[in-house]
Amino acid sequence: MTTAFIADLHLSPGRPDILDAFANFCEQSTGLDALYILGDLFDAWLGDDDSSDFAFQIKSQIKRLSDSGVKIYFMAGNRDFMVGERFATETGITLLPDETVINLYGERVLLMHGDTLCTLDKGYLRYRRVIQNPVVTGVLRSLPLSWRMRIANKLRQSSNSQRPQLTSEQLYQMDAQHPAVLQVMEKHQVNQLIHGHTHRPAIHCFKLSDGTPAKRVVLGDWYTQASVYRASK
Ligand code: MN
Repeated sequence: MTTAFIADLHLSPGRPDILDAFANFCEQSTGLDALYILGDLFDAWLGDDDSSDFAFQIKSQIKRLSDSGVKIYFMAGNRDFMVGERFATETGITLLPDETVINLYGERVLLMHGDTLCTLDKGYLRYRRVIQNPVVTGVLRSLPLSWRMRIANKLRQSSNSQRPQLTSEQLYQMDAQHPAVLQVMEKHQVNQLIHGHTHRPAIHCFKLSDGTPAKRVVLGDWYTQASVYRASK
């Protein structure tokens, strides 16, 4: 009885090594009870109408895994918030909103992508509020796919040019902040949190304000290896 959690694979046609790692993972995961994908499965997902070979390949792999009996849940990240109902229907996955509490073998566990924990990254949070506003995503969905590709390329170029070499102070500012972690865990009354986004895999143990022992699992990215967190009963 095992449940697996993954995030930040950043799948893209330009990284065949990561595509291979994901294909292997899917083939070897048919024995799982459930798989939770906590965002940024894709380096960029511009809409469920993407009919590229790449999109078809990934959807087929996920569909095969869900057809094998694994319950698959997907929470969007900042790179793939355009994944929608059509993708879910085509692959057999269930979409989850950010900040979902699950029952993991009898324990309440909070799941997040993790970007909203990075409360010092003000510029990013401002951008997120705009780009993930339902009105804006509605407009984006109505644009032709080629326009969305052009916009995504522009956004990628500007974010690359703004991030040449990050200082340790900048890296700290982009990490999850402990007060935000405590706040969201206390809001949902949980002592376990699993998230991705920061690409800093770790298991942090600490205490909540009332002294309850707590655990925060940060999932790793897949840039150099497959990174999976497994919980078993
Ligand atoms: Mn992310």
